[in-house]
Amino acid sequence: MDKVNILGAHIDKVNIEQASDKIIEMIENGEKCKYVFTPNSEILMRAYRDKEFCDILNTAALLTADGIGVVYAAKILGSPIEERCAGFDTACRLMEKMAQKGMSLYLFGSKPGVADKARDIILEKYKGIQVVGCADGYFDAEKEEQIVADINDKKPNVLFVCLGAPKQEKWIYDHRNELEVNVCLGIGGTIDVISGNTERAPDFYIRHNIEWLYRLVKQPSRIGRMMDLPKFGFTVLLHGKKYK
Ligand code: UDP
Repeated sequence: MDKVNILGAHIDKVNIEQASDKIIEMIENGEKCKYVFTPNSEILMRAYRDKEFCDILNTAALLTADGIGVVYAAKILGSPIEERCAGFDTACRLMEKMAQKGMSLYLFGSKPGVADKARDIILEKYKGIQVVGCADGYFDAEKEEQIVADINDKKPNVLFVCLGAPKQEKWIYDHRNELEVNVCLGIGGTIDVISGNTERAPDFYIRHNIEWLYRLVKQPSRIGRMMDLPKFGFTVLLHGKKYK
């Protein structure tokens, strides 16, 4: 598959359609615990600073460009990506395809009760999909063991892991050899958005590539994290070409 190296992370040049098809293919091939991460600029900036984390990202079966910053970076590096392939959008397209095939899903992450709410909405919207389990994302060692046992008992085709970055990527990586699932997706606030607990930016912001601005206005506490956005742009401009 065609990839672009952005500050050390090997991003797949796939659109939402191709990414969701690829995941369905992994399920149909009976793969064991393949995983998909959807890094945005903030996460790629973290990976640039933290080689170990970057190596974890690069073990994914699919690494998609979540965020317009990543799409611009690929363009700057002369290896454009056709469109943003955000975790939330990929998950929605994937659930449509899973529904047609009666495939199963497990929701892991977000605050207590939120995944249950999301499950009801998913069952209503994606008729045919099986949501075989839910667990919130706040756990101690004992609860974590129970969650893993429950996942392995249910053996879902797909596991959504929504613990925020970099926690979810590290969690999936640490558990990759024990999870009895076909594919895991590390997709941040997706369960929150599906449940209606967090609003996705209105279409206007998404179409004009300023979803980040909407999130900042809604959650001003993100300002510290978001400073990584301009830093990411400068770093790609200054050092991006060294990564080939
Ligand atoms: N979360 C969780 N466990 C934790 C920390 C966070 O389940 O220990 C959840 C949190 O409730 C939220 C999601 O992870 O649903 C993080 O969402 P956010 O939009 O911040 O994701 P990011 O932008 O970091 O990918």
